[in-house]
Amino acid sequence: MRITLPTGEKVRRGLVVGVGLALLGLELGAACRGGEAPAEPAADSRRPDGVFAIVEPEDPSQGSSPPRAESAPARTAETAPSGERPRDPEPGDREPEDGEPAAEAPLDYDPELWIEVQALDPSIVLDIRYATEDNFVGEPLYPCGRCFLRPEAAAAVVKAHQALQEAGYGGLKLFDCYRPTPIQARLWEVSPDPRAVAPPSKGSMHNRGLAIDLTVIDREGQELDMGTAYDAFSERSYHGFRGLTAEVRDNRKALLQAMESAGFRPLKTEWWHYTLKGASRPLADFVWSCTGPWPGGPRYWERR
Ligand SMILES: [Zn+2]
Repeated sequence: MRITLPTGEKVRRGLVVGVGLALLGLELGAACRGGEAPAEPAADSRRPDGVFAIVEPEDPSQGSSPPRAESAPARTAETAPSGERPRDPEPGDREPEDGEPAAEAPLDYDPELWIEVQALDPSIVLDIRYATEDNFVGEPLYPCGRCFLRPEAAAAVVKAHQALQEAGYGGLKLFDCYRPTPIQARLWEVSPDPRAVAPPSKGSMHNRGLAIDLTVIDREGQELDMGTAYDAFSERSYHGFRGLTAEVRDNRKALLQAMESAGFRPLKTEWWHYTLKGASRPLADFVWSCTGPWPGGPRYWERR
């Protein structure tokens, strides 16, 4: 399957609604302190109407990374009450004729900074646990389940997914992708154990869009037996745990090989967690919008 990554896209600044955070009672920016995170969000990143822009702070620990237009000003947009994702009118826009298929929904994020993984390959299955009560906190932390990663990480995940499919598996199921830094603070509140959760002052690679939690499914869509549930904080989750059955070892190995071949490295203590090797990105704290339609899938990329 061909992967077409966006190039030369007109930039659509992802804008994000603070509704999810407000519901959670979280104070955005509270987590952006110390360490690698900025003391406060950029002054213009928060608008009186509760809409947040992407904040791409400089990261002193990533000083050798090439300069990017990460701090370009965010595009402003309002959240349409109709549930449609708004976009700014552009030259050449016109009303569709009767019977003409409606134009595909625009992206609500900047594809040079972020990619929604399923837009590259819709056959990747999402089970974003922090959007549900089925997580170790026991309550939904995300307003809805969407999987954003940095483009280089997204492309690598798709590569691993397709390698597994070619090997006879159903592919990957994703539990967590980009995680907004304020949510990291909430996880730390519940579990202030650096072995299980990165402290928000340091930030997690999830907060940079470079880490992913996932498992493998079979052709029927069933998760393979990995020996523990996702986010089980026990030694049984360790890659090197002795006492796993041969089947579990084989299943973990299938995931490990696919991910390593695609450029990821494992985490010793969590069979489900992988980080893209050699990548460097700043922390981010935007929370995605849930109000718009699906952003279009692969055809969106190919037709432009
Ligand atoms: Zn993880």
